Amino acid sequence: MSIKVNQELCIGCGACVSLCPDVFKMNDAGKSEVIGEENIDCAKNAAASCPVQAISV
Ligand code: SF4
Repeated sequence: MSIKVNQELCIGCGACVSLCPDVFKMNDAGKSEVIGEENIDCAKNAAASCPVQAISV
């Protein structure tokens, strides 16, 4: 299982970081990036909540 954020699609809304701070963080470009892959369930929730479907799990 792996979690990815499409940097082209991400609009930097921060929703995924708020939901799963152990999985995502905002990078210097203002986009979300993956920092940990332990919490797959949370990542799936974040993927469902992402307004631009930038997260794949
Ligand atoms: S929820 Fe989606 S658009 Fe918002 S920061 Fe996360 S990956 Fe980017």
